[in-house]
Amino acid sequence: SHRITLGPLVAAIDQGTSSTRFLVFNSKTAELLSHHQVEIKQSFPKEGWVEEDPKEILQSVYECMERTCEKLTQLNIDISNIKAIGVTNQRETTLVWDKETGEPLYNAIVWLDLRTQSTVERLINKTPGRNKNHLKHKTGLPISTYFSAVKLRWMMDNVDEVRDAVVSHRAMFGTVDSWLIWCLTGGKSGGVHCTDVTNASRTMLFNIHTLDWDPELCEYFGIPMEILPRVRSSSEIYGLMKSGALSGIPISGCLGDQSAALVGQMCFRDGQAKNTYGTGCFLLRNTGPKPVMSDHGLLTTVAYKLGRDKPACYALEGSVAIAGAVVRWLQDNLGIIESSEELEKLAASVGTSYGCYFVPAFSGLYAPYWEPSARGIICGLTQFTNKRHVAFAALEAVCFQTKEVSALVLPPSAGDTMNDLQRFYCSMLSAVKPSMPETTALGAAMAAGAAEGVSVWSLSPEDLSEVTSEKFEPQINPEESEFRFARWKKAVQKSMNWET
Ligand code: ADP
Repeated sequence: SHRITLGPLVAAIDQGTSSTRFLVFNSKTAELLSHHQVEIKQSFPKEGWVEEDPKEILQSVYECMERTCEKLTQLNIDISNIKAIGVTNQRETTLVWDKETGEPLYNAIVWLDLRTQSTVERLINKTPGRNKNHLKHKTGLPISTYFSAVKLRWMMDNVDEVRDAVVSHRAMFGTVDSWLIWCLTGGKSGGVHCTDVTNASRTMLFNIHTLDWDPELCEYFGIPMEILPRVRSSSEIYGLMKSGALSGIPISGCLGDQSAALVGQMCFRDGQAKNTYGTGCFLLRNTGPKPVMSDHGLLTTVAYKLGRDKPACYALEGSVAIAGAVVRWLQDNLGIIESSEELEKLAASVGTSYGCYFVPAFSGLYAPYWEPSARGIICGLTQFTNKRHVAFAALEAVCFQTKEVSALVLPPSAGDTMNDLQRFYCSMLSAVKPSMPETTALGAAMAAGAAEGVSVWSLSPEDLSEVTSEKFEPQINPEESEFRFARWKKAVQKSMNWET
C-alpha cells in the first residue's frame, strides 16, 4: 500500500490532571490525525491531599507516544513527518527530583491539594491588613494553596529526601512541563531543566512584569534559586527527544494547559476569551501585552510568549477548581453513576433539582472567593430528594460557577469561544463550542510548529483559519436562572467560614 503524503506533522503531549494524551496534527489543516490517551491515578493519602506518581506520569507519556506512532503507521502515515513536539500540562502541580539519580524525591503534589492550608493562613495573617493579595502586584496571584511555592516549601520542610537533596545541591524543582522536558531530553545524562513563562507564572516565585524568577519572592518562601528551572518563551527549541521512535525530534513548544487552550482556540486578540472544562474549569480572557489587575478575585497570568523575541501576552483568569471532578466524585465516591455519560441522563430525567443545591468546594473555593477553608455542601434536601436531583444539582453547580466567573472575566460584549464537555454546561450562557475538542493540544502543537528553527506552522493571523464551531443559547428563562443563581450563592456562603 502507498504512503499518504501530508504536510509536516506536529505533535503535542497533553499531560492533564486526570489523563495524559499524545496527539498528532497536520500543520497545514490543523486536522487531528491520531492520538492516544491513558488515565492517571490520583491518590488521596489524607483528607485534602492529592498526589500523583511522577514516574507513572512519565510512563504514560511514553506509552501514549508509542501507541500513537503505531496508529499512524497503521494509517500509512510516516512518523518521520513529525517535525516538532509541544508540551502542555496541568499547571502548578509540584515535583522535586534528584538530578544525579533522575529519581523523583516525593510524589507530585497536585494543584488541588490542600495540605498547605495552615501555612497559607499563617502567611496571610502576617501580611499588613491580613491581605491575601499582598504579593499580587508582582505575581498576579493571591496567596493560596493553589500555587507551587507553598507546595515546594512543604516538601522542603517535611520530606527528608527533598531537604537533603536541596542541601547537597542535587535537587531540581519543576512543574510537570519541566519534569517531562528534562526526562525526554535525556534526564540525568544531559536533560534540559527549563519551563516556560506561562507555567512559571503559576508558581508564585515569578515576576510577571520582568518575566523572570523574583529573588524577593524566593526569599519570602525560602526557596533557593538554584533549584529552579530556566525560564524560556513558550515557542523555541528547548532540546531534542533522546529516545524512542521520536528520537531526535525537537521539543519546541511549552504552555500551561489553559494558555495552550487560549492559543488553540485562536484567542490572540485583546478581549477574546475561552472556557475549558476538565477536572476544573478555567475562563481566560486575553488582555494584550500589558498585565491587567483585577479587584474581583481574578488572576493575572502570562497567556503566552510565542518566541524569544516576541512580546508576552497576558490574561485575566477565572479559575474554578472543581468542574468535571464532581462527576468523577459522584461516580467513585458516592457510586450513584457508573460512567460520566450516565450523569447527564440522570440529571435530564428530572430536569431540575428543585430546592437542592450543590457547592463542590472540595479544594476550598477558588475564584472569586479564594477561601481555602471552604468545604463542599449539598443542601436543601427533603425526603423527596433523590440521586437524580443531586446529579442535576452537581451539573448545575458547574454552570453556576461558570456564570459567576464569566460575569467578572468577560467584558460585556466580548466574543467568547467555549470548549465544553457537555452541552448541558452551556445551557445558561450563550457560547460557541469548537468542533475539534482537543484545542489544548492544538495550541501546544501550534507553538511547537511555529518555533524558530522549526517554522512549519505560521501563527500570523491571516493564515489562521477560524475555529469551526457550534453555537449555544440559554435554555432556561432568565428569571428562573437568576432566582436559582441567587439561591446557589447563598449555598456558597454556607460552604465558607466553618470556624465562625
Ligand atoms: P484534565 O485535562 O483536567 O485531565 P479532561 O479534559 O481529561 O481533564 O476531563 C476529565 C474530567 O471530565 C474528569 O473529571 C471527568 O469526570 C469529566 N468527564 C469526562 N467525561 C464526562 C462527561 N461525559 N460528562 C461530564 N463530565 C465528564
